[in-house]
Amino acid sequence: MQVFITSPWVPPEFIGAHGLEPRGVWFAAEPSQLPLGAGICAFAQAMIRLAETRPESAFIFSTHCDQLRRGFDALTLTLPGRVFLFNLPATWQGRVGERIFGSELERLGSFLLKIGGYPPTAKALGESMARYRLARSRLIEAGADCSARQYGEALARFHWDGTVNLGGEAQHARADGIALALVGGPLPTWQMDLLDAIERARGRVVLNATEAGERSLGLASQPEADYTASHALPDLLQLLTRSCLERCVDVFQRPNTRLYLWLKERLAARGVRGILLWHFVGCDLWRAEAQSLREAFGLPVLLLAASEARSDALRQSTRIQAFVESLG
Ligand code: SF4
Repeated sequence: MQVFITSPWVPPEFIGAHGLEPRGVWFAAEPSQLPLGAGICAFAQAMIRLAETRPESAFIFSTHCDQLRRGFDALTLTLPGRVFLFNLPATWQGRVGERIFGSELERLGSFLLKIGGYPPTAKALGESMARYRLARSRLIEAGADCSARQYGEALARFHWDGTVNLGGEAQHARADGIALALVGGPLPTWQMDLLDAIERARGRVVLNATEAGERSLGLASQPEADYTASHALPDLLQLLTRSCLERCVDVFQRPNTRLYLWLKERLAARGVRGILLWHFVGCDLWRAEAQSLREAFGLPVLLLAASEARSDALRQSTRIQAFVESLG
């Protein structure tokens, strides 16, 4: 059975170890277009529609924003037993976050058994963790050699099925564009013509810090634990909990200094000259960061708002072009 995940911080390796198929929603087909309610984030709404059209699958929502929480509430009525709400701890300092995350994994494990998964063995979990860790490391290394579109699609595919597939020949990033960072919420494949629009405007995305972008991969420098060695299941679960919390770099965390530290290092190292802040209309979490990003990094920030689930990159192109020209 396919188990759809709406947050990159819910570990797919854990779901895979239960014999189920984890599927990151960023690669799923474009959901059908229906009128949206005012103020409702189009991504959260798209997730609800996706779940409604796949009643045979399971969906994991997370508590990192109220809109997804409400989406979960709505679906518990229409898809009873098929949706799960993962409580992502906002706090990452001290042991509290570790305790909360560990108990959420336990709860998620029980849910996965109820929908047909089998109890994971230490071998299955260790192998699944090792496979995902390797794929994340390979993708971190591959980033510099790919075009923004190629990399964005490869990341979405990784979240879909755990594979590293850069789509044939490397389509090298243009060398002459203005270096930009794309920071913000989810950028599913059906919205990725935004990346082409940026390139056409002579911008060069050297940092994809959207929800399922490079930001979701963790740090290349994270210590390599040997998951396949003979660890007992509880030890592996503890390792998984720690690695998930270490990897998590997001705007909902309190304090969200880790996000700023993660960005600071990369913005400087990659010579970024401007930030494109990507968010869905109705997403206060990201929209509220515009001023903080300007102040923290002293860089110009352009807000790009997606008002619909389908791409509106064409509408955005003129603004992107003006922004890039102002940096030239
Ligand atoms: S884009 Fe923002 S509002 Fe929408 S689901 Fe993600 S965090 Fe929530």
